[in-house]
Amino acid sequence: MLENEIVAEIRANGPMGIDRFMALALGHPRHGYYMTRDPFGMAGDFVTAPEISQIFGELLGLFTAIGWQMLGEPPRVALVELGPGRGTLMADALRAARALPGFTSCLEVHLVEMSPVLQRAQADTLKESGHRVTWHASIESLPEDRPLLILANEFFDALPIRQFQRYGTEWRERLVGIGPEGQLALGLDRNAAQGLTIEAPEGTVFETSPISLDIMKKLASRLVAQNGLLLAVDYGHAHFAFGETLQAVRKHQFASVLANPGEADITAHVDFASLAIAARRAGAKDHPVLTQATLLERLGIRHRAGILKPKAENPAEIDAAVERLAGTGPGGMGQLFKALAISGPGMAALPGFDQPDPRLAGTASR
Ligand code: SAH
Repeated sequence: MLENEIVAEIRANGPMGIDRFMALALGHPRHGYYMTRDPFGMAGDFVTAPEISQIFGELLGLFTAIGWQMLGEPPRVALVELGPGRGTLMADALRAARALPGFTSCLEVHLVEMSPVLQRAQADTLKESGHRVTWHASIESLPEDRPLLILANEFFDALPIRQFQRYGTEWRERLVGIGPEGQLALGLDRNAAQGLTIEAPEGTVFETSPISLDIMKKLASRLVAQNGLLLAVDYGHAHFAFGETLQAVRKHQFASVLANPGEADITAHVDFASLAIAARRAGAKDHPVLTQATLLERLGIRHRAGILKPKAENPAEIDAAVERLAGTGPGGMGQLFKALAISGPGMAALPGFDQPDPRLAGTASR
């Protein structure tokens, strides 16, 4: 059991950061949540945008096709997806990209996926696409000799975070230790965290994902050197905000983060502002953050739904999917999910990203 391994590691080395706990809970080679199962869909633990409707992947596929045109139609380009889940998004994107036959014959598919179970699911889903697929356990081995068109849906929210809490006039890291009854328990480091100077009221929680920032920095440097773009869609905030967002989900219900590690999905809100700064510092261009609602509307979700509906067995299902993906009311993903686009410095406004999002005006962006 993973819990026993974590307890043993804590007994040997002392309390561990939440980042270490998350990395083990999600990615432990034998017991990690993503390493052992396909968690998606109604029968699983949660449903993601590409699993709601084919339109999501189609629009993102067209986005990359236009990106390829904007790059001057390079003869070799890598279409990359980070954390492709079942491969549904990529399959839909490749089908939509056939609208530009030139693009289809120039692209090679590269998937960054740590889970062997999900790599197999992706191979199955993409068999029919006719494209050769190359898998990578991490971004480091992505090709270096051609432009990159990178998609990432609900990838960054699965990357480990660290949490710090305001304690008097200092910040202390929240660590996972062992409670009085031998169970995993959260506590504060005995020592102050170094280098964190920002002031906040007692008890405030500050989250940061060093590994996300590092991945973004590396990908941004690649886009500067090789050209291309990255589109990341995830739930999170457009402007920096304090507060705790770490959560666990199992069978479509919130669960305790520390209970049954390896059995529940653990995620945190993505801090898009910090990701954009990391990309900019590496020399890439960051485009204005959009809500998922605005991105999908600008890319033509309603137009595409109008084409699919007359052919559909149940047109009401398509309306419901559009409402779920782009709706901004309760039950809709449109406002909570955001999209960040990064590109090589020479790329002008990307499709949909030419103007800021009125839905994110002011500070009410969380
Ligand atoms: N994009 C898919 C799946 C999202 S779940 C969808 O929208 O349905 C997160 C995905 O990222 C899974 O495929 C998971 O195995 C993968 N993943 C999580 N952490 C990873 C890491 N550090 N390296 C590579 N892949 C990772």
